[in-house]
Amino acid sequence: MRVIYPVVVAGAGLVGTAIARELSARGEKVLLIDRQEPGRGTSYGNMASIAVNGFDAVSRPSTWKKLPFWMMDPQAPVTADPRHAVTMIPWFLRFLAAGRPKRIREIENAGARFATRSLADIRRLLGEIGAPELLSEATCLQLYETEKAFRDGRDNLDLMARHGLDYEVLEGDAIRAHEPLLNPAIAKAVLLPQNHFITDPLGYVARMVEDMRRRGGEFLDGDMARVERDNRGVTAIVLKDGRRIETDRLVVAAGMETAVFARAMGEPIPLETERGYHTQIMPPGGADLRYSLIWPERAFMVTPTAGGIRVGGSVEMAGLTRAPNWRRARILVEHARFAVPALKVENITEWMGHRPALPDTIPILSASSTTKGLFYATGHGHLGLTYSATTGIVMADLVMGRTPPVGLEPFRIDRFSGIAP
Ligand SMILES: Cc1cc2nc3c(=O)[nH]c(=O)nc-3n(C[C@H](O)[C@H](O)[C@H](O)COP(=O)(O)OP(=O)(O)OC[C@H]3O[C@@H](n4cnc5c(N)ncnc54)[C@H](O)[C@@H]3O)c2cc1C
Repeated sequence: MRVIYPVVVAGAGLVGTAIARELSARGEKVLLIDRQEPGRGTSYGNMASIAVNGFDAVSRPSTWKKLPFWMMDPQAPVTADPRHAVTMIPWFLRFLAAGRPKRIREIENAGARFATRSLADIRRLLGEIGAPELLSEATCLQLYETEKAFRDGRDNLDLMARHGLDYEVLEGDAIRAHEPLLNPAIAKAVLLPQNHFITDPLGYVARMVEDMRRRGGEFLDGDMARVERDNRGVTAIVLKDGRRIETDRLVVAAGMETAVFARAMGEPIPLETERGYHTQIMPPGGADLRYSLIWPERAFMVTPTAGGIRVGGSVEMAGLTRAPNWRRARILVEHARFAVPALKVENITEWMGHRPALPDTIPILSASSTTKGLFYATGHGHLGLTYSATTGIVMADLVMGRTPPVGLEPFRIDRFSGIAP
């Protein structure tokens, strides 16, 4: 039997689901496909933060100087498995290239287009799907142990100011007045009034799928094997069990696996996994936090999600197949216990996931450069939840041939052509 769909979205993480949902809301007949329950990939375990200030370019001289020390320190916020590091040299060269002053400005300007509207877009989306309660009204404190750490992190505050984002610097008793549970050793904190969080990231994806279905969209449990095309463009996808679904518009939003399909379509992309960890501390956890916490120097967050306090973060460059190194998760818990001494780490679950990361830290949100009707949305790195609703809007516009409200030139798939990935 021929199965034909006007639009297929492959990958039901935060990114693919937000796109499929937005397309259905605009009256498109959508099929969303995933080989697991929607939201069970990387989107399951993130730190749930709408990290409005998180769009600074990561590659910059101040980061480069720290890298050699980080590589020698197992407790460092960034580590690399030496066997994997050699395979990453082309990615790393591009990462360095992204740290030129002109490129840093371009990357940050591109990120700002998304970051500055992300909270409003998520709020609107949650309203449309009837789930406003998933957005916590609590905001975020960014912590610094020393004056020096605060001065070293000044660039992030300057960036926010340049793009009209508010913040408030707190010190001494003012920090404890906001969050009494914080260790008095913390010298400075920055209140980030736009950095809200989602109380349940998996629930966020599930509610988007429900809304998509209510509007006539469908979800299919399936593992995409390949894309078929002819000289007019995309014609079908084929699943690993042999099922064939005809379509002339396909969005590949398969997280890390998007790279496999892009390569097969003749447009390879330098996607690398930045592995991250979380520990979920089941209630009561000993600490009734008023804020989510972020500690940039130690690369971790603490978020009081609906299912308990979540502690997570870290960047581990170790590829897709190596077993998790749970020590990374436990280091973060130690940091969290330092920040919040009342935290009781008793009943826990641990998780590791793969952030799809491009060397210039901005996603690919793009029509294919080789195939009509094919689109890509991946590489959201640390900001997939933050950019979820905005990604849905701009990708729906691309797929429907409309002009997105955000210029997408910096997010093109072919921006990496030149050096082989
Ligand atoms: C520790 C950690 C903390 C984070 N914290 C935050 C945060 O606080 N705020 C924030 O904004 N971001 C955060 N992130 C980043 C965010 O989670 C990711 O950017 C986001 O989840 C990426 O979403 P995605 O939809 O691209 O990928 P995924 O969630 O991985 O979804 C891709 C989906 O594609 C499916 N798929 C793959 N291949 C196929 C195939 N062949 N056929 C069918 N289906 C397929 C997978 O099963 C998967 O469900 C964090 C990430 C980590 C690891």
